[in-house]
Amino acid sequence: MSDQAAMSDVSSGEEAGEVCRFWGRLGIPGLIDVHTHFMPERVLRKVWEYFDALGPLTGGLEWPITYRQEEAERAALLREFGVRAFTSMLYPHKPGMARWLNDWAADFARRTPDCLHTATLFPEPDTETYVREAVEAGARVFKAHVQVGAYDPADELLDGAWGLLAEAGVPVVIHCGSGPAPGKHTGPEPVARVLGRHPRLRLIVAHMGMPEYEDFLGLAERYGEVRLDTTMAFTDFTEDFIPFPRRALPRLTDLGDRILLGTDFPNIPYPYVHQLHALERLGLGEPWLRRVCHDNAARLFGLTGTA
Ligand SMILES: [Zn+2]
Repeated sequence: MSDQAAMSDVSSGEEAGEVCRFWGRLGIPGLIDVHTHFMPERVLRKVWEYFDALGPLTGGLEWPITYRQEEAERAALLREFGVRAFTSMLYPHKPGMARWLNDWAADFARRTPDCLHTATLFPEPDTETYVREAVEAGARVFKAHVQVGAYDPADELLDGAWGLLAEAGVPVVIHCGSGPAPGKHTGPEPVARVLGRHPRLRLIVAHMGMPEYEDFLGLAERYGEVRLDTTMAFTDFTEDFIPFPRRALPRLTDLGDRILLGTDFPNIPYPYVHQLHALERLGLGEPWLRRVCHDNAARLFGLTGTA
């Protein structure tokens, strides 16, 4: 074993202890993380190359990926952290790609029983067909990436799929805020149009909707099936350039049964445990943390029992 591998073993063991102490103190059976990335290896490498290039491209924003282990080690690490259930968020950037990603994700879920079977979509002529096939094959959560996909979520080609997912009650984690980078169709307005047509659609707004935090909180207040995931929000990294407005903290309390732990593991520029501490230091209390880190997702996905 190289020195570097040995060192990462030591630090991951220590970190696992810290993560487990966090949820142990709360008296929950573990964590449920609705926003983790597992995808075909060459796609993940491309994502990592993107983050590696960010510093030079943006003239400053460094995004060193913390967890670059092989796939099996990354899944094992989540188990060491006591993550009872996680997802394999993946997303196409062009037409003709979603079906292939969905096949990969179905296989990943088969060989990874603690991964919630994830699927994705893109506006194209056969969207409704492959979304139906994925739901029938057992997909429990979808991922939509409005910024990377550069599509309007209210595109007519998605309408049938949104209707089907609303009816099936299958949640969709949607990256629709304009952070860290805006896209042509990011922001609350296109999502508001989707919800106007499909008010029961279970959208989970990724990253708390950053930087349009308050607009997306407003959508969650208006639509009872809209949720938000905490992914990267409230961390030192994000607070430096897209701070969450303090005045909106009481709204997090009010929406405490519809906020879900998400982290972006493994593509994060800090240790996993920092996301947990970032939630804790909001000072919203242990009952709130229990719901956000476990109970809300357990209810949404029908996960019962203890770890
Ligand atoms: Zn993500």
